[in-house]
Amino acid sequence: MLLFSHFRSAGMRLMIPLTIAILMLIALPFSTVSLANYQDLLVNIPYILFTIVIFLSQPFNQGRTGYVALIMLVAYLIIIHYLQTPLTNDNIKLIFSLLAGLLPFNLLQVHIMPDKRLFSRFGALFSVFLLLQVGWAALVYKHFNGTDLTSWWDTYLFTYRNLSLLPLVILLLNLALVCSSASTLLKRNHSSDQAVFICLLFSFVTFTFFQYSFISSVAFSIVAVLLLINIISCSHELAFIDQLTEIPGRRALDNELKHLGRTYTLAMIDVDHFKKFNDKYGHDTGDDVLKLVATLMKDIDGGGNVYRYGGEEFTILFKGKNIDECLPFLEELREKIAKYKMIIRDHDKRPTSNRAGSKARGQDKTSKSVKVTVSIGVAENYLEQEPEDVLKQADNALYQAKEAGRNRVQCAQ
Ligand code: GH3
Ligand code: MG
Ligand code: MG
Repeated sequence: MLLFSHFRSAGMRLMIPLTIAILMLIALPFSTVSLANYQDLLVNIPYILFTIVIFLSQPFNQGRTGYVALIMLVAYLIIIHYLQTPLTNDNIKLIFSLLAGLLPFNLLQVHIMPDKRLFSRFGALFSVFLLLQVGWAALVYKHFNGTDLTSWWDTYLFTYRNLSLLPLVILLLNLALVCSSASTLLKRNHSSDQAVFICLLFSFVTFTFFQYSFISSVAFSIVAVLLLINIISCSHELAFIDQLTEIPGRRALDNELKHLGRTYTLAMIDVDHFKKFNDKYGHDTGDDVLKLVATLMKDIDGGGNVYRYGGEEFTILFKGKNIDECLPFLEELREKIAKYKMIIRDHDKRPTSNRAGSKARGQDKTSKSVKVTVSIGVAENYLEQEPEDVLKQADNALYQAKEAGRNRVQCAQ
């Protein structure tokens, strides 16, 4: 579970495809001979994989991933059918440049497209839009077929052959669009942004190093596999991650409780007087406070894993630790939350990150700071009880902490 949450960070979503692309470029020149043995299979793999991605994107509600898979499939078809001869012929170079120029724009626009399913009226319109572009490119090709384009290649579409077969201007354009997609991914960190970034990165690498044998089949196969993983990890996220606080939810906890060893400790945490807080400051501010409390909890030391149990209740699971080992960390957390000044102001202006919050605190003199406290009940496993019983004891201890005046940690008796 933690492994998955690590892979969901924007940095990892960027670095994993980037690392794979670099490894591919390093390995390809050494693999030509062995890849040649599987040439027929290799050429057909992207068709199969992209078709699977397109059909899976529908039930998994990953419309954007479906769109980029469709765009990549069309691009791959063009590469296999028209670009398998050396790029010395001016007309082949024209197809290559048209494709390398149009593909990144089509991919990049998916970032801002409405999130509609592929098999829909919008999807049909989009497919027509793609076909129109293919038709337009075919007309351009027909128009210039047989014309001497040498002056074009030497001026506007100058190629710096030591670097790439791609005209320099298109190469730079591709690079700029990859960077723009990367910045969108880093800012928003949506799984669909990663899908677009993967396609842009690998199409850029394919076009830039087009002289490498089998690069298009290998790169496009990798893209399709990464898109499949993207769809699966996104549905995992939907099932196990709480949408508001972005920490694992109740289903993830129930799953984890099935795989516990002998020694573990469970803590139930409940925000004090939260109903009053909501009544006073509004539900949206209440939501922000829950997010903040979850962020503070995530940083708990001692290896505790935090889950949103439901509402304003959270659970922390310490695997391999008994209650005495966990108490100092829980006490530290309780104190940290109680001391944390939360800034309440116009909801639209509320900073989303902790760092932005601390910056704003120093500047916004009109904002009001509030504090919340939490009560914590803790229980450990003894005599191999059922995890549900340990959870119940932690919940009883929480009730006692509330009775005893709140803002405290109470161990199960
Ligand atoms: P106590 O100290 O005894 O825990 O008091 P309390 O008011 O926190 O407890 P109670 O269980 O009566 O109320 C919990 C409140 O938490 C009720 C509900 O308005 C609020 N709450 C639950 N889930 C959410 C949520 O997702 N967002 C917001 N804003 N409020 C929530
Ligand atoms: Mg409660
Ligand atoms: Mg409460």
